[in-house]
Amino acid sequence: MSTQNLLFNPAEAALLDGVHTGGSPKSLFIDGQWEAAASGNTRTIVCPADGTTVGTVSEAAEEDTIRAIAVARRTFDEGSWSATPAIERGKILVRVADAIREHKDVFAAAESADTGKRLEESEADMDDIAGAFDYFGTLASHQAGRVVDPGDENVRSRIDSEPVGVCALITPWNYPLLQVSWKVAPAIAAGNTFVLKQAELTPHTAMLLMRVFKDAGLPDGVANLITGAGAECGNPLSTHEDVDMVSFTGGLETGRIIARNAAETIKRTALELGGKNPNVVFADADFDAALDNALTAAFFHSGQVCSAGSRLIVEESIQDKFVDALVTRVNNIKIGGPTDSVAETGPLISEEHRNKVASYVDKAREQGATILTGGRIATAEDNDSAHGTGETDLSKGYFYLPTVIDAGNEKLDCIYEEAFGPTVTVETFSTEDEAIQIANDTEYGLAGAVWTEDAGKAERVARGLRHGTIWINDFHPYLPQAEWGGYKCSGNGRELGPTGLAEYQEHKHVYRNLSPAATGQFGLNS
Ligand code: NAD
Repeated sequence: MSTQNLLFNPAEAALLDGVHTGGSPKSLFIDGQWEAAASGNTRTIVCPADGTTVGTVSEAAEEDTIRAIAVARRTFDEGSWSATPAIERGKILVRVADAIREHKDVFAAAESADTGKRLEESEADMDDIAGAFDYFGTLASHQAGRVVDPGDENVRSRIDSEPVGVCALITPWNYPLLQVSWKVAPAIAAGNTFVLKQAELTPHTAMLLMRVFKDAGLPDGVANLITGAGAECGNPLSTHEDVDMVSFTGGLETGRIIARNAAETIKRTALELGGKNPNVVFADADFDAALDNALTAAFFHSGQVCSAGSRLIVEESIQDKFVDALVTRVNNIKIGGPTDSVAETGPLISEEHRNKVASYVDKAREQGATILTGGRIATAEDNDSAHGTGETDLSKGYFYLPTVIDAGNEKLDCIYEEAFGPTVTVETFSTEDEAIQIANDTEYGLAGAVWTEDAGKAERVARGLRHGTIWINDFHPYLPQAEWGGYKCSGNGRELGPTGLAEYQEHKHVYRNLSPAATGQFGLNS
């Protein structure tokens, strides 16, 4: 019998009033009400840091998703929500931002309980999430359309921005509420209705958000939430004819399935997929800053970050010094639970995911790579090693040791495949052109970094990299006002920034002739 997680207990959270009363949980939020799955099925959510039970939620199936889509369709077609002035929609979003700040402790605890990530990181995420709601709340009324110069004094021409309609929003487990916020905030700002499918392993912060939406005055039926496993409940989101747009963040293979499904009804698609992100370090970089950030790039949130700097590409002349220093630091990374006082990073999300990471490293080893450190699942013996915090039993959670892989400049699979775990591969280069060529040698194109003190070189490399975000002498920061998204197989479309709102808008050209006159072009020659 598993014990209750100490950080978050949804049955006692006032914001989830109505979810856990009267028998089985009702965690589907449809038309402003909490509902159970029609099948009555449930799923137990487990904290990956220690195996404790966080809570039990409804496990939706296709019939539940279709019910939610019908509500979103009806609410959109009734027209009152999309006709609500954008400034009013924006005010709701700003109230949501305020509520997330007010209830930050509860949101952060729920996020850390579901993901096992450090509480401090979840708290920082909540600040960023509130910032995203603020940003789109303000932007809502500033992107209503534009006037076009028609080049004719007898014509008025303008572009009206209108909502796309019913949006299906599908999100992953690594940054559960952050990824949700990047979709729901612009969807609401633009006047859409939506069905959100949160990742099945991490439902609680999306549930808290639904309550905050209601309290902030979002009309019933605009925001609908289903909790359940991938295709089992998610399929109608990309196939149903009543869905106008599907916005997906997740893995490349799932993205391909969704894009194929959506093609049948020509839905608008926005895809935020994986990454295999190069971190290029030149010999003239600030050594200590580049080294420190190479660790953050690869091991933040145990590498479960789409933009993780999982490919270290270092100039040959400093390779030995840089890699030795890296390995020394990696050997001291403390891993532990969300509230461990000295933990620097946490567990992987699930046993299944840890097995995937372990297979990725095993394959690298079999193909001839050298594992410079790590390369295995953490055990009870690691509790007393430099990795342990003395507060969490590493054998109880899904921990994997931070791992450095030297592929010896061979084109092994580990260079190309996304591990989504605490691993970094090392490659070397000797010229600027070679650095760019290696960094672009990937099917992905999400993010990358260049470290150098030479401003001209930094700009040339930044221009040469075919990735959606480039950091110069930094790694990981992003801004709500700056577009985020991928080139190539990292996806299409953009989240955040003005484009992140435009994704959720149709752009209608209204052409008005001020002096209508007959054209005399047809049917006058009898
Ligand atoms: P995943 O593709 O397994 O799942 C993502 C979501 O899709 C989950 O909610 C899942 O239940 C759902 N899903 C799966 N099959 C579905 C289907 N047929 N129909 C509808 N929904 C379906 O990905 P994951 O393992 O949760 O997340 C990790 C991946 O996400 C990594 O590849 C990572 O790089 C990527 N990611 C990308 C970004 C970005 O901004 N580009 C951000 C975060 C994560």
